[in-house]
Amino acid sequence: MRIGVVAVQGDVREHLRALGKLGVEGVLVRKPAELEGVAGLVFPGGESTAIWRLLKWSGLVEPIEELHRAGIPMFGTCAGMVLLAKEIVNWPERFFGFTNIAVERNASGRQVDSFETTLEVKGIGMVPAVFIRAPYIRRVGPGVEILAEHQGQPVMAREENVLVASFHPELTDDLRVYDLFLKMCG
Ligand code: GLN
Repeated sequence: MRIGVVAVQGDVREHLRALGKLGVEGVLVRKPAELEGVAGLVFPGGESTAIWRLLKWSGLVEPIEELHRAGIPMFGTCAGMVLLAKEIVNWPERFFGFTNIAVERNASGRQVDSFETTLEVKGIGMVPAVFIRAPYIRRVGPGVEILAEHQGQPVMAREENVLVASFHPELTDDLRVYDLFLKMCG
């Protein structure tokens, strides 16, 4: 199984390493041809506005929209979650909007307020979670299942083939959240 990692900006290497540890081939996606044959697509953390600009510049926006329409599972962590959200409450535009959630960018605080905690994830149990200038989910629409909360704030959710997390499962050694995504990919 090949899983694409959107590789225009952000913590791409950490995602590739996580996929490798799980025995899956990770493919760097920088141009449309690299989406060929992927069973799932990962959007890393980084800077969502920069990733979006580079995706547009690389001609990747429409091919990724096509993959979504074709039912290919997608996983967004942190900035990746912002890219996949239908609404961003504190930003004038939205990006892909594949999942019916409203997020607030940078809701967990500034870079210096980064923290690691343990979260109860539905169907998995307690997992370590790293938050770096993370978005929080402010509203979810019908069809969205909240999978984890931090201090009453939803921070992980799934809607059909789209999985999103405010935190960075790729930065810890506990890869069960990642495994959940691979199961969605078949
Ligand atoms: N604050 C960043 C954004 O909204 C996300 C930060 C991260 O991915 N660690 O793009």
